[in-house]
Amino acid sequence: MLAILHPNTALDSEAYRQTMEYLENLPGVSIRVHEIQGASQRLTEIYLLGDTKSLEKAEIEALPAVERAIRISEDYRILGRHKDDQRQSGFTYNGVEFSQNNLNIFAGLCAVDVPEHVEMMLQALEDNGEVCTRMGAYKPRTNPYSFQGHGKGCLPWVFEKAGKHGINVIAMEITHESHIEEIDTCLEKLGRPTGVMLQVGTRNTQNFELLKAIGRQSTYPVLLKRGFGITLNESLNAAEYLASEGNANVIFCLRGMKTEAGLPHRNMVDFAHVPAVKRLTRMPVCVDPSHSVGSRDQSPDGILDVMHATAQGVIAGANMVLVDFHPKPEKALVDGPQALLMSELPAYLEDIRLCHETWKKRQAIYQRLRETTAE
Ligand code: PEP
Ligand code: MN
Repeated sequence: MLAILHPNTALDSEAYRQTMEYLENLPGVSIRVHEIQGASQRLTEIYLLGDTKSLEKAEIEALPAVERAIRISEDYRILGRHKDDQRQSGFTYNGVEFSQNNLNIFAGLCAVDVPEHVEMMLQALEDNGEVCTRMGAYKPRTNPYSFQGHGKGCLPWVFEKAGKHGINVIAMEITHESHIEEIDTCLEKLGRPTGVMLQVGTRNTQNFELLKAIGRQSTYPVLLKRGFGITLNESLNAAEYLASEGNANVIFCLRGMKTEAGLPHRNMVDFAHVPAVKRLTRMPVCVDPSHSVGSRDQSPDGILDVMHATAQGVIAGANMVLVDFHPKPEKALVDGPQALLMSELPAYLEDIRLCHETWKKRQAIYQRLRETTAE
């Protein structure tokens, strides 16, 4: 059972005190409190776990601070959608809104290499009005002798440059919990010129101790990539690990599945799951067309497969695009062959916007259909 309190309920109010006293004394029930800071209000949700079968919805809704109660199913308790569950999706971080209804684009470098390339990337984003990017500092590599990323050494100049170019959020993969502190210490020292979204890579989707550590902090939101060799259900449970530890600011990223059936693409593009994830959970959904497709191949229509895959995800309602760009792909230390070029950025952004608008128009078509069939 989930009890949702009236918006902006003060934690020192009498209504809150009475409500908590009642809930804390329910036999066999443990409670977990989640605070959600939205753009205009703060919401408190109280999860009642354990022996809740005998509880009546009306009994919980009668408590002074409770607005309504929802009976939640076993799957994805915090991030899932439950019957009669009209709760909003998403969150706001560092001035950027993330939800199941809008779209943010994170174009950037797969791996940070030299300051000149980072500068060129950030300048191009600023010129195009973008406030988010991706920058890899800690790279999980198949080959132990491959470039592993510059690690914490590059953080100060990457964060400073991002701030200078008006970047609010950087998606940055971490591969060990100690990286959270490295990022936090560096941002704090610099006076927080930018923000970071912690990325969990596909190889770490079921690294449960890493997930728990990331979930224990709520300073930074999380971009969780789908595991490339496990079921969707298993990956969604991985997201729930983060939420169960206290951080429900999670975006779920589709990035393709590892199977030869996907050839000639690097992975089998799985963006048909965008609406499925939005139906099963309240998480905003990201698509990563670069790691899905993995090349700059193009079809006879003159459009790159990466761009086609992006369009397929966005027209199906994706809320975020994570995509590799590089000013000089031949010099990139990781994933150069799949990177888009600076010169392609404006057209690519225009294409994405067109697809996002088309998704909204598609929604309107089916809304009208529902209205006419209901008459
Ligand atoms: C990445 O985004 O740089 C990356 C390594 O992706 P994935 O974890 O999906 O392979
Ligand atoms: Mn990569």
